[in-house]
Amino acid sequence: MKKTNFHTHTTWCDGKDTPETVILAAIEKGFSAIGFSSHAMLPENELDWVLVPGKARSYAEEIRALAGKYSDKIRVYCGVEADYIPGGACPDRAFYEEVKPDYIIGSVHYVKAPDGNLVAVDISPENLADGIRAYFEGSVESYIRAYFAQEREMIAKFDFDIIGHPDLVRKFNAKSPYFNENDVWYAEELVKTADVIAASGKIVEVNTGAISRGWLDDAYPSRPFRDLLRERGVKFVLNSDSHSAEAVDCAFDSFAKSENFVTLFD
Ligand SMILES: [Zn+2]
Ligand SMILES: [Zn+2]
Repeated sequence: MKKTNFHTHTTWCDGKDTPETVILAAIEKGFSAIGFSSHAMLPENELDWVLVPGKARSYAEEIRALAGKYSDKIRVYCGVEADYIPGGACPDRAFYEEVKPDYIIGSVHYVKAPDGNLVAVDISPENLADGIRAYFEGSVESYIRAYFAQEREMIAKFDFDIIGHPDLVRKFNAKSPYFNENDVWYAEELVKTADVIAASGKIVEVNTGAISRGWLDDAYPSRPFRDLLRERGVKFVLNSDSHSAEAVDCAFDSFAKSENFVTLFD
């Protein structure tokens, strides 16, 4: 299997290292390709660590210049990790004209509550508990069902390529358990979501990011979720969701043989 990573953060968003530092580390580690995926919430957003219009163009120019500079050593791709917020940002080619990304990862990091407020999925266990209490009447099940409903809507509706960490709600569940992954309602959500993913033809990433950040010892999606996806013929790519050069291949050894991974752009 060729070594590649298409989920890579840098100083263009909330990553620690510049794209060039990451490229040099990837060459050193024997990668054949690396794709950058800055956080993005176009068409508009108020956060200073995601791409905004204008900044998005400079980002693409830098990545493309680096792709030329290192073309004899590694293939470099320019992508985005685009958020889906109902009524706001969406992971769709139409919104990313400025970047003309080689690929788009679609991710849900904020769940829209019935009253329109947003609950952040992955900031901290405390922040999440506060959000569920304030906007989902304290019901973890309602919150998680809303998360998966939003995932399914995103997957079915928009023009993007890779589904980012499709069960991100598990992030805190090992260190700070807040629901039972064996509950019937949870299994139901996984099956419904796996069906929508299979029908979409989109690729799912096996994302080792929670391992490098010490939250989980398994990837997203969980092993049972991966089984459901595999049974339905869904294709996987292996991604590290790295926020530093050294984490670019975190836990790749333990997952490299676990799925029949596809290589993008081959
Ligand atoms: Zn993400
Ligand atoms: Zn990411």
